[in-house]
Amino acid sequence: MKEFNAIEHYFRQGLVARDDVILGVGDDAALLQVPANMELAVSVDTLVEGVHFPINTNPYDIAYKALAVNLSDMAAMGATPAWFTLALSCPEISEPWLQQFTQGLADLAIQHQVSLIGGDTTRSKSVMTISIQIMGFIPKNKALRRDKAQVGDTIFVTGDLGNAGLGLASSFAEIDLPEQDAQFVEQCLNRPTPRVEIGQALSKLGVQCAIDISDGLLADLGHILTASQVGATLHLAQIPLSNTLKTQLKIEQAWQFALSSGDDYELCFTVRPEKIELLAQYLSANHFYPIGYIKAEQDLSCLHPNGDIWQPKRAGYEHFSEAD
Ligand code: ADP
Ligand code: MG
Repeated sequence: MKEFNAIEHYFRQGLVARDDVILGVGDDAALLQVPANMELAVSVDTLVEGVHFPINTNPYDIAYKALAVNLSDMAAMGATPAWFTLALSCPEISEPWLQQFTQGLADLAIQHQVSLIGGDTTRSKSVMTISIQIMGFIPKNKALRRDKAQVGDTIFVTGDLGNAGLGLASSFAEIDLPEQDAQFVEQCLNRPTPRVEIGQALSKLGVQCAIDISDGLLADLGHILTASQVGATLHLAQIPLSNTLKTQLKIEQAWQFALSSGDDYELCFTVRPEKIELLAQYLSANHFYPIGYIKAEQDLSCLHPNGDIWQPKRAGYEHFSEAD
């Protein structure tokens, strides 16, 4: 199909112009200028049709989400995103599809001033996959890492959890919600907001440990705990929940979504006791939520408001899990 050949032309301008792109789309490789005194942060994420988005998702949302989840990885490192590449693999491609896809990509790329600097387009037999590789900058030794949590740290999250998971349940009609709530949670699922500015600010303020919540709080906080060889206790009463979760679900069901469902793309970060005061103004001005603390005993427990330990039914989304 001729559109396959037209893609180079389609993306030639890179959506966003940047001075540090010496050579963008069109040659065998892009040439890029990394600023001195910066480390290069690089990450890739793939979305598979039917796994990461339902088969009938519109092309605008597919593109938006594919870039958003990559921006979220930059946010989780505290990095400033700069460039990305796009590998598209699909059975067929139409002009209207490509137009909407490009619009979704461009809207978010412009917001974050990230430039498309190359990619690859291949025909696949069955499902569509979209891989985006993103690159950004971080001042030397300032990256937010999973292995930096310490005993006594307070654990924070940047916003409501569980909305995207409820959005997925709603889009599959597993749960019946009033129209307005359904729209809200499905929007959370399809158009996540990557917390890029927050990640940068946390790094500047001396925070050292963060992750973005893509697979559910328990799973992702679990990665911090494993990497840092520590444990954590969470206070369920302090987990931030949207009005939709609070009003449409029983509280235990709401916690289940908030702890175990993926795709929220909020940040989870930990702060040393001696830093809390320094950060207090920033933390409260931004309505971040302290949800628990890091402890030496290497487990992850959730405290019910009545003081009991609460056991969630499912810990989080795992690829290749036995249940698949
Ligand atoms: P090559 O044969 O050297 O791999 P391609 O024909 O695959 O080159 O690509 C030609 C140019 O178009 C390259 O600069 C490549 O980066 C760009 N390109 C191809 N597909 C995409 C895409 N999906 N998004 C952005 N740029 C693309
Ligand atoms: Mg190629």
